Amino acid sequence: MALKFNDNLLPTLPIMDDLPVDRIIGITSTIPIEIVFSAGYIPIDLNNIFVCDPSSYKMVEDAESAGLPRNTCAWIKGIYSATRKYSIKKVISVIQGDCSNNQALMEIFQSEGIETIPFAYPHSKTDKKFLQDQLVRLADSLGVDYSKAEEMKERLDAVRAKVHEIDSLTWTANTVTGEENHIWTVSTSDLMGDYAVFEERAARFLKLAREREPVQHVLRIGVVGIPPICEDLYSFLSSIGAHVVFNEIQRQFSMPYSTETLVDQYSQYTYPYDIFSRLEDIQQGIKQRHLGGLIHYVQSFCHRHIHDSIIRKNVRLPILTLDCDRPGRLDGAMKTRIEAFIEMLR
Ligand code: SF4
Repeated sequence: MALKFNDNLLPTLPIMDDLPVDRIIGITSTIPIEIVFSAGYIPIDLNNIFVCDPSSYKMVEDAESAGLPRNTCAWIKGIYSATRKYSIKKVISVIQGDCSNNQALMEIFQSEGIETIPFAYPHSKTDKKFLQDQLVRLADSLGVDYSKAEEMKERLDAVRAKVHEIDSLTWTANTVTGEENHIWTVSTSDLMGDYAVFEERAARFLKLAREREPVQHVLRIGVVGIPPICEDLYSFLSSIGAHVVFNEIQRQFSMPYSTETLVDQYSQYTYPYDIFSRLEDIQQGIKQRHLGGLIHYVQSFCHRHIHDSIIRKNVRLPILTLDCDRPGRLDGAMKTRIEAFIEMLR
């Protein structure tokens, strides 16, 4: 399979036309890709191929033309259009631990003849039996022995370790930008469908990053919340002197833990569970990475916006809540708010 990388060795879109369509499995959120790879399928994160598409804005409009409500989150509309655009035949949908929109989207896929495989995280991260049952059920539905997925975990742990080092260089040596950190960590949700090529590129990027001059910005901030849909947030922050050294959810996609089993790994992954385990992770990131402020990114029409008040109550740092609807560049009002926030932090 061919992957496309830009000059800075950052992962970009897989070339979808080169992939065997009957082996592609679209995923709507981070799921145990160890099972998908061990079953011989190619996981493709539908969020990534949507947001990286040059016509991502139009894909949102196309979904609305097809009947999805305007007041639904743009990620859902993008996932829908990406699935249609690339004629994806099989989708694993996260129906618990992400959002109810995904459950409804799964039903739309079913009504359009797309095969769907539901995957549910437990309500509580301590419910390991539920999680184990879900993992085994997913392996069964893809026709692979579960033990093969545990073997695949060891292989992918080595790939992820390289991304953990990229993350570490962002805040220790300051030789990785916030945007590069975002792209590498967010891409671990599917490893761009080819973990061997991904690993080789990550190793080359690491070599480059270890030898670079550090970023000179003195202001260190974090971005918490779901990955931003706007394309130039990181470059804009960098242009006004803010170094993003913590990308909360993207880092979670990279599974930054030392675990023995898939159950342990996906119990420690904070995104599907309550806000309190996310808060612990955020507090640790603030302390460890010496953050001066946070941007809490919230997606328009997303229930996770409600968490903003809990984060503000518990985090003793200046926070800017940034709400965005569609893909594209930051508008003037957003830029003004961000500039004022960064100026205030200084
Ligand atoms: S941003 Fe919120 S509403 Fe949209 S898919 Fe993600 S969890 Fe669901």
